[in-house]
Amino acid sequence: MNTSNTDIIIIGAGPIGIACALECKKRDWNYTVIEKGSLTNSLFNYPLNMTFFSTSEKLEIDDIPFISNNPKPNRNEALEYYRRVTTSNDLNIKLYEKVNSIQQNNGGFEVITDAATYNSKKVIIATGFYDIPKLLNVPGEDLPTVSHYYKEAHPYTLQNIAVVGASNSSVDAALEIYRKGGHVTMIVRGDTIGERVKYWVRPDILNRIEEGSIKAYFNSEIKEIQPETIIVKTPKGEITIPNDYVIALTGYRPNFEFLKQSGITFSNDEKQKPSYNPETMESNVEGLYLAGVICGGMETHKWFIENSRIHAKIITNHIETELIK
Ligand code: FAD
Repeated sequence: MNTSNTDIIIIGAGPIGIACALECKKRDWNYTVIEKGSLTNSLFNYPLNMTFFSTSEKLEIDDIPFISNNPKPNRNEALEYYRRVTTSNDLNIKLYEKVNSIQQNNGGFEVITDAATYNSKKVIIATGFYDIPKLLNVPGEDLPTVSHYYKEAHPYTLQNIAVVGASNSSVDAALEIYRKGGHVTMIVRGDTIGERVKYWVRPDILNRIEEGSIKAYFNSEIKEIQPETIIVKTPKGEITIPNDYVIALTGYRPNFEFLKQSGITFSNDEKQKPSYNPETMESNVEGLYLAGVICGGMETHKWFIENSRIHAKIITNHIETELIK
């Protein structure tokens, strides 16, 4: 396996990893971004027709203008933007190479991927949270009819679909599938549709539920998934309803095992917030930084592109002061 030396390794080429790369490039530093999938892999895997809740200028990195047709850009426009920022700045990014471990080594790090080993002085982890779904942990969840991601409505036309959850993702999927001729039932653990659902979408789902076009069971949970039915625990008792596909959009979580193995510690509660200094974004391991939405631990609603793009400047400013010392 190849071994190479790079001053700074950035893990993950999502919006925030790209923002970190731009800051390194501006300072003429020797950096490499390593990404296990495509460029902006999480955004690439979003629903084809998704619209961001942020306006385009809030998704800009390094003040590079993001021009979109409407105030809230869609997935394709965001892909175009981050792709263009990357190529026009000629950023040094290695795609389809997964980082398997980070070892501390002589005051620096050894970053081991499935293709090479990199010796680096600093490492920035910007790996997001979109790769690991929070599971329902019910029998039948491993059936091929169950998915934790939603791409588009067409396969679900004329089918009985259970959408689990009441967040933006669940609501977007439920409405889109309903409008493409699917029979949608929402299974919602709480007693209403999420308060954080986009303000221009929430009335739509509430009205569809009220008129009965989309069925919804609140204060309810799936107990078991079978090939043609699901069993749902509702306040009125257990019911069995016909089902062809379950789309469980109950959120995602960071790869805690990877962070732990890198030496990062966590808060001792259900939030599992990784330890870092918010003034520098340096973790409890010297020289190892955290950037982007991964910083929230299980609180995946805490950080967005909007409020975490600043991490790139905070980190590189800190590294710069370290270099001057
Ligand atoms: P990510 O974009 O998730 O990037 C992490 C990258 O790291 C991925 O490309 C991944 O493949 C890579 N990676 C992971 N592990 C490894 C490894 N071991 N080796 C190499 N590479 C690895 N935020 C907003 O500000 N506005 C919005 O409107 C908005 N809408 C959203 C809609 C949806 C459906 C979702 C899920 C999130 C939304 N967010 C929004 C939140 C936020 O934008 C995203 O989570 C964003 O992708 C975070 O950027 P990031 O760079 O921190 O992480």
